[in-house]
Amino acid sequence: MSQYPSELLTLIAHLKKLPGVGHKTAERFAFCLLDWPKEDIKKFAYQLDILKERIYPCSICGCLKDNASCTFCDVKLRDPSILCLVSSPRDVYAIEETRAFKGLYHVIGGLLSPLEGRSIEKIALDRLTNRFSEKDIQEVIIALDSTLEGDATALFLKQKLNEIGIQATRLAFGLPMGSSLDFVDYGTLEKAFTGRQTF
Ligand SMILES: [Zn+2]
Repeated sequence: MSQYPSELLTLIAHLKKLPGVGHKTAERFAFCLLDWPKEDIKKFAYQLDILKERIYPCSICGCLKDNASCTFCDVKLRDPSILCLVSSPRDVYAIEETRAFKGLYHVIGGLLSPLEGRSIEKIALDRLTNRFSEKDIQEVIIALDSTLEGDATALFLKQKLNEIGIQATRLAFGLPMGSSLDFVDYGTLEKAFTGRQTF
C-alpha cells in the first residue's frame, strides 16, 4: 500500500472521509476511478468543483437551494401559517416524502448537546425569531431526532418560542428512541407527524 503513487494515496485519504467508507472500500473506489474514461472523471471533478457554489442554504429557511428562488419559501405553493423546525436540510427531504406537511420549514443547523457543551448559535436563534416578525405563523412543529440532543434542543426551543408567545408541538409517537429522522421509514414519520402533540 505504501508503494502506491502518492496521488493515489491522497485520493484514498479523501474517499475515506465519506460515511461508511473504510480503507479497503476507499482503495476499491480509487482503483475503480482509475478505470473510468477521462471524460467521466472530468465531469465528476467538475460537479465536485461547483458543488458549494451552486448548492447552498437559503438565507431565510436554511433549506438547500440552487440559484433559482427557494421552492420551500414559496408561499404560493406552501402554507405560511405553519412552520416546521428541523435540524438539517436533509430532514426536509425525508418529511417532504411523507406528503403530510405543506407548511414552511426552518433549519436550525445542529442540535445542542448538554454533554458536549454545545449550544445553539445566537445567529441561528436570531434567524429563527426573525421568522415570526411577519405574524403569519400560527403553529410551530418541532421535528427533531428522538435522541438526548433532540429532546434537549426541543425543550430549549420550546422555551425560547414561549418567550415570544408562540406555542409549539413536537413529533410524538411513531419515532423510535435513539433514532435519527433520516433513518426512519416514511410511514413511521408520517404517523409521527399526524400524532404530534403539545409538550
Ligand atoms: Zn427558503
